[in-house]
Amino acid sequence: MAEAGVASRRKSEELIAKGHVRVNGKIVTEMGIKVDHQDKIEVDGMPLEEEKKRYILMYKPRGVISAVTDDKKRKVVTDLLEDVQERVYPIGRLDYDTSGLLLLTNDGEFANHLMHPRYHVEKTYVAKIEGVLTTEEIKKLEGGIKLKGFTTAKAKVKVMSKDKKKNSSIVRITIHEGHNHQVKNMFDAVGHKVEKLARESYGFLTLDGLVSGKYRNLTRQEVAELK
Ligand code: URA
Repeated sequence: MAEAGVASRRKSEELIAKGHVRVNGKIVTEMGIKVDHQDKIEVDGMPLEEEKKRYILMYKPRGVISAVTDDKKRKVVTDLLEDVQERVYPIGRLDYDTSGLLLLTNDGEFANHLMHPRYHVEKTYVAKIEGVLTTEEIKKLEGGIKLKGFTTAKAKVKVMSKDKKKNSSIVRITIHEGHNHQVKNMFDAVGHKVEKLARESYGFLTLDGLVSGKYRNLTRQEVAELK
């Protein structure tokens, strides 16, 4: 119901609990009943129309929250969408101060699939870090590093430039998982603070042709390849 744009998830649960919803003619009040496209769902006698599926690739700017609402009233990524009526939401998160490639959709199955830990899509980030990495530290980052509760999968690390005078480096890192603050925590674990972070690719998708704050629809073929 939330995906069809009837109401928020919480409000939809309320509508179900209060007996407003019928599935194939029968009132249901239990949560979590599985339905598919053949089932007829009605809310107060009105048939539920499925919302058109949207798949958006956004160049998220720094200073925007990867969510659809924010308690502190900061700007959220969906505020940047101008012509999108569907209730899309971000697939995973980029930190408030991280920029780069973010996918949004209203297709729950698609989002769950991409976020599932078994679906190891490669994500490449460019980080400006404090200091200069030693060969030993690069090996640690690449081989898997112990963070709180898990060890990272193998990663690729390439030092793009280093500035000994300014005590900083630019490093490209490709990881396979998407834990909260993962890249920052990986560099922290080897003693280097991340000063700036940007995601430049997600699997085969890049930001080509987009400027910060802008977005485009994924093509049918791109969606099919990600599934
Ligand atoms: N890793 C981080 O630390 N932050 C992000 O936003 C994404 C990956």
